[in-house]
Amino acid sequence: MKLYEFQGKEIFKKYGIPVQSGFLIHAKDNGKDLTPPLVLKSQVLVGGRGKAGGIKIWDGSTDASKIINDLFALTIQGEKVKAILALEKVDILREIYLSITFNRGKSTPVLIVGTSGGMDIEESARLNKEKIYFVEIDPFLGILEYQIRFVAKKLNIDNYLEFKNIIRAVYKIFKEYDATLVEINPLAITPGGFVAIDAKVNLDDQSRFRHEELFNKLREEKEFIQDKKEAHASKPKEDTITYVSLSGDIGVISDGAGTGLFTLDLINEYGGKVANFCEMGGITNSEVMLKSLKMVASDQSVKSILVVLIGGFNRMDDMAEGILKFKKELNKDIPIFIRMCGTKEEIGKELMKKANIPVYDSLNIAVKKAVKKAMEN
Ligand code: GDP
Ligand code: MN
Repeated sequence: MKLYEFQGKEIFKKYGIPVQSGFLIHAKDNGKDLTPPLVLKSQVLVGGRGKAGGIKIWDGSTDASKIINDLFALTIQGEKVKAILALEKVDILREIYLSITFNRGKSTPVLIVGTSGGMDIEESARLNKEKIYFVEIDPFLGILEYQIRFVAKKLNIDNYLEFKNIIRAVYKIFKEYDATLVEINPLAITPGGFVAIDAKVNLDDQSRFRHEELFNKLREEKEFIQDKKEAHASKPKEDTITYVSLSGDIGVISDGAGTGLFTLDLINEYGGKVANFCEMGGITNSEVMLKSLKMVASDQSVKSILVVLIGGFNRMDDMAEGILKFKKELNKDIPIFIRMCGTKEEIGKELMKKANIPVYDSLNIAVKKAVKKAMEN
């Protein structure tokens, strides 16, 4: 299975590989406010987007919606553009090519690096402008320090430690996800350090049985992008939300399982008791937020609701919209406490403030408030 750039980058982020912050724009979105400079990248599964005009830099001097419309009108190698990844633009000092794939002949992993990655790598490789190095990896030993030193030297890397961490992370992803390719082209050297500008991750379909949940999540995201699931935006699928019912009086909603579990621990530590827990899986939108709130609030014992959001590709303005809809539709006065950070948090927080819903930067404080309220009520 081939992953979209934004999916690959979510994995990169998890493994500590630096990526630009950003968010997805779907064809149905309109009038999202954007702050320049941004790189607007069409999300397609074929390569060579840059050359096909699928990547645009928006510096703020023109109308962004015009660029976005142009990108949505594109078909790149037969693939229609259905989503755009908007990323903060970084300054690039140098581009490097980096990948791990299988050595066809031996079926063992091989690390490939090139001294000047980017859109023309195939061309420059042919013309010998580009120096490419192949390093065989023993699957039992993994990548060894001397091998990383070797490529770092060939690439003239100054920041060895940071580079080593990236290579190790790429190999870890390759192994743990059963990938057939993990490619960063280009890996940019910027004034602030390395940044993976592009992400190509291909998973081995044969390994699906080992990653059932992951494959399903990725496929769902893909179907959402490709509009195969028309209903998704208005009618969220039951199974994107994980609901757990417990016996206390605090309702909890999170946009990630890890954060959610951590929050449950904190509540416990502060003497609170959780009534139920909703984890909104995959790409979330305001409807999923609304639905989660309704699920949590339907439990009569819930006296306060704690919403914990850490937005990556998940947008806080969308989340706020869902919370406002809930307030309007249900009109129950269960107090809601929110911890919100990440993409578009300023807008999300502003919307919450206007509606008099408390938002906290500190998870600890949000948890304490929710626990206190449940005890009072
Ligand atoms: P591809 O054409 O599908 O491989 O798309 P990439 O994501 O690799 O981007 C193509 C090229 O666009 C890169 O090699 C960069 O030169 C350029 N580019 C992409 N993002 C940025 C950015 O944030 N800053 C700058 N300066 N250039 C970028
Ligand atoms: Mn690329």
